[in-house]
Amino acid sequence: MDLIFLGPPGAGKGTQAKWIIEEFATPQISTGDIIRAAIRGGTELGKEFKSYTDAGKLVPDELVNRMVKDRLAQDDVKGGFLLDGFPRTVPQADALDGMQTEAGRRLNHVLLLEVADSVLLERITGRRSDPETGRVYHIKFDPPPADVADRVIQRSDDTEEVLGQRLEEYHAKTAPLIPYYEEKGLLRRIAGEGSPEEIRDLLFAAIRG
Ligand code: ADP
Ligand code: ADP
Repeated sequence: MDLIFLGPPGAGKGTQAKWIIEEFATPQISTGDIIRAAIRGGTELGKEFKSYTDAGKLVPDELVNRMVKDRLAQDDVKGGFLLDGFPRTVPQADALDGMQTEAGRRLNHVLLLEVADSVLLERITGRRSDPETGRVYHIKFDPPPADVADRVIQRSDDTEEVLGQRLEEYHAKTAPLIPYYEEKGLLRRIAGEGSPEEIRDLLFAAIRG
């Protein structure tokens, strides 16, 4: 199954992806995670990435497209993938379309998690992650257990100020992908407000079609 996860920052893509990859035995490819790993590596490219992520701006298409092309060429995605955070612009979607055609593959579903902007602020500013396991928590909705609580960290772009910029980028550059995939008959809209388990069940049903 070739799947795309679409939705604003904080919609719950990462949280839900963990369940989807387990249920449908497919690898998750998160461009945000790949970019943050490059930043931690401290390379020149990582430094360039950081200047965009810290400003809440999208990394240029050419850089991200190349990264995804390399990742999709690896063996573990032969049976399918869940793209989380890519594509995020129409040129990225066109590039993915080219990669899929070249590989003789077709997308099955584009899963859109719909969450109002007003809900995203609390989700984003309360997000924490465990640097040892990568597990994501929320200080109010999914608090880390006591033995993990003192080591969780907050992403440097998860502030109210940077979120404003990220949402602007989302509405200007990513939201046009909604009609783009709707016209192709691939868009599945899922209400992203509710308990994580309720949302998971809606997603599973949409994927099973
Ligand atoms: P995304 O990957 O779309 O940016 P995350 O999955 O990281 O979003 O979720 C953002 C934050 O909101 C995290 O702290 C997560 O624990 C929390 N969260 C995820 N889903 C829900 C939900 N249904 N209700 C409340 N909080 C949620
Ligand atoms: P979110 O919680 O917003 O869903 P991500 O982890 O997906 O966050 O992305 C974090 C940052 O990484 C983005 O603000 C952007 O700077 C960069 N990024 C991730 N994916 C892409 C992409 N497909 N195109 C451009 N920039 C990206």
